[in-house]
Amino acid sequence: MAADLHIHTTASDGRLTPQEVISKAAARGLKFIAITDHDTIDGLLSVGKSSILPLTIIPGIEFSTDLPYNEVHILGYHIDITNQPLQEQLQLIIQDRLTRVEKIVKRLQELGYPISLAEVQEIAGTAKALGRPHIAKALVENGYFSTVQDVFNGLLEKNGPAYIPHYKLSPKEVIDLIHLAGGLAILAHPGLVGSDAIVQEIIALGIDGLEAYHPSHNEGQTGRYAALAEARDLVITGGSDFHAIPGRFPEDLGIFTIPDNLAINLLQAFQKRSDIKKTIQE
Ligand code: AMP
Ligand code: ZN
Ligand code: FE
Ligand code: FE
Repeated sequence: MAADLHIHTTASDGRLTPQEVISKAAARGLKFIAITDHDTIDGLLSVGKSSILPLTIIPGIEFSTDLPYNEVHILGYHIDITNQPLQEQLQLIIQDRLTRVEKIVKRLQELGYPISLAEVQEIAGTAKALGRPHIAKALVENGYFSTVQDVFNGLLEKNGPAYIPHYKLSPKEVIDLIHLAGGLAILAHPGLVGSDAIVQEIIALGIDGLEAYHPSHNEGQTGRYAALAEARDLVITGGSDFHAIPGRFPEDLGIFTIPDNLAINLLQAFQKRSDIKKTIQE
């Protein structure tokens, strides 16, 4: 039995709709999935409480946060998507993502890549969480590059010639916001945050778990982060970071999965926290 707790959809920079992701996950025999779009819960709102039994859909989100020299991604699971402070912050972030894309398009024009904001918006479709992969696709479609990865390497990666950051909360603010919305905060792909010292720093801020299983981790990293999570009494999660972008591993759901007992552990940690909260309130 398999699970996948890190999946993007057309609500951010994935290329399958939430409904397509759900159907595909059911067809592949997955038992638990989490939809974790960048800085938005639009995909979750669009599927409501629908599910294809025995597939369980866990409401999630992936926040981009900033430290002075690194970008840190934090996943929120079992969040209450009607939470007001959460919705207000997301509104601010989404608004600035649009402003940022306008700025990047302008810079690209200056660099000799005359794409338009309208083209990027057309590619993004209904997605309100506009991101660099949408811009990269516009550049590929115009024939300037052959793959999205080439665009990142040449122009859009952090501190690249056309890189502009967007408004982000700090890791501490995101962890607190996820907790306020009743969810669990998990450090995404710890192998990509820059160093294990930063991982330790983020654990100290009150993180609930580590995403030990991720396509960017080698076996050594997976084992190390799983052991670290166990030693610190943190939840271990994992997922494919599936975007359905050609050339980006994994290109399909079901190729990279985790044992479903990890999804059950996550659910139990959530229930334990909810029970503690209830006891405090009573
Ligand atoms: P954004 O939220 O607009 O900053 O873009 C984040 C998205 O870009 C995520 O899907 C990342 O996986 C992708 N991304 C970030 N850096 C790179 C890179 N160097 N190569 C390929 N994709 C990247
Ligand atoms: Zn993405
Ligand atoms: Fe990420
Ligand atoms: Fe992701």
